[in-house]
Amino acid sequence: MKILITGGAGFIGSHLAEKLVGEGHDVLILDDLSTGSLQNIQHLIDAGHVSFTKGDVMRRGDVAPLAEKADFIFHLAAAVGVRTVVDKPLESMVRNIEGTQNVIEAAAKKGVPFLVTSSSEVYGKNDDLPFHEHSERVYGSAYNERWGYALSKAVDEFMALAYWREKKLPTITVRLFNTTGPRQTHRYGMVIPNFVNHALRNEPLIVHGDGEQVRAFSHVSDIVSGLVDLMNAGTAVYGEIFNLGSTEAISINDLAKRVIQHTGSASLITHVPYHEVYNATFEDMRKRVPNISKIQEAIGYAPRYTLDDTIKAIIGHYQSL
Ligand code: NAD
Repeated sequence: MKILITGGAGFIGSHLAEKLVGEGHDVLILDDLSTGSLQNIQHLIDAGHVSFTKGDVMRRGDVAPLAEKADFIFHLAAAVGVRTVVDKPLESMVRNIEGTQNVIEAAAKKGVPFLVTSSSEVYGKNDDLPFHEHSERVYGSAYNERWGYALSKAVDEFMALAYWREKKLPTITVRLFNTTGPRQTHRYGMVIPNFVNHALRNEPLIVHGDGEQVRAFSHVSDIVSGLVDLMNAGTAVYGEIFNLGSTEAISINDLAKRVIQHTGSASLITHVPYHEVYNATFEDMRKRVPNISKIQEAIGYAPRYTLDDTIKAIIGHYQSL
């Protein structure tokens, strides 16, 4: 098949491209290289398996000719992460909402199945854990930019469901929980690459807040396997939302200790209050862990990597640079 990945030069997109090429597909990538990098996919382009277009999902003229050729579309292009949205709220909202509108409309013109990567952020401040797909979404004040990311991803979800219900466009919505692994950059504050990068230099690991917030991290290889299996599942998964992530939960304090242990680092752990990292109104989610029974039942999803495997893979990646 010919498969279009928007955001395919990014962290998850480049791993997804690799997996699809490995399974014999032709891959088209549309990426503006805002947070992605050609370096992530150069080996695939050189091998002749991937055709790359530098372009913007917010420009219909960039999206349409590629969507026209595609048999399936993975829409990953987005302003990613809370840091980005707090720093550039307007650009991020437009990118995530208008960008998705353009890509899904192009998919609908030809009836191409469309998968969008949403985020566990959509659950907001809900503390009824673990989150399942029908859990409530609980957001703070609109004056707090932090919730703009959650909201923009939630709009993407509503859009995908509306196209399915009203236009019968096959859509799949995947709520990704923290995904990490080799190639993820530490530049945008992603926590494990950040810790590893500092630990390898024996610099302090900076933990935001009291560090007792809990997350569950997946290896990107498990995530892209899940995405490809959803693509292959066909009609049974159309019009559905799936959590995709790990259930191995850890506090950020313990995560920092784990990274120090695996790197043999002399780094110390330092705590910095949220208001110094973001702003005075910043609110975090205390705990974020998925219930993954729906995706387990749909495609037999079973993560293969433990958190320790994942941390070691990221250490290996940074040591090889
Ligand atoms: P990433 O920043 O590496 O990937 C995003 C890619 O989209 C980048 O290559 C970027 O250059 C591209 N892009 C951004 N705006 C664009 C535009 N207007 N036009 C074309 N390309 C554009 O981040 P990632 O971690 O690989 O995230 C991929 C997707 O997964 C995103 O939709 C993100 O919201 C979602 N997600 C990721 C995580 C995670 O933990 N990494 C968690 C939840 C959801």
